[in-house]
Amino acid sequence: MPFICENVECRAVLARGQVRSSHEDAGWCFYCPDCQARNELKDIGAPGGPVELVQPERSGPPHKIIARAQPLEDGRYAAQLRVQRALAKRGTYAVEERWEQLGVFPDAQKAVAHANTFAAELLKA
Ligand SMILES: [Zn+2]
Repeated sequence: MPFICENVECRAVLARGQVRSSHEDAGWCFYCPDCQARNELKDIGAPGGPVELVQPERSGPPHKIIARAQPLEDGRYAAQLRVQRALAKRGTYAVEERWEQLGVFPDAQKAVAHANTFAAELLKA
């Protein structure tokens, strides 16, 4: 399995041969050759055996959520949402899901709040 840079702006997919792991006081890590971000590694090798490094799983995958309020002709706002789920394979995203009208609200803040709540429910599943 390749390593993937944890820097959301970078997310470089790196073959193991491309990175040099180093053991620092804080533990194992590697520095991304593209953006120089420090990426944490974990040794899962048996005690006394050879070192076997993996990237620790992050609890919250970096889903992309865009919640917005679309002004309607009658002065109200439609709650709109776009979601791109981060897939289990790090650095990859599912096809964007879109909702043009999750509901109609008297003000923009309520519409955005509704879209965010909807996204939270969706991604919990
Ligand atoms: Zn990077």
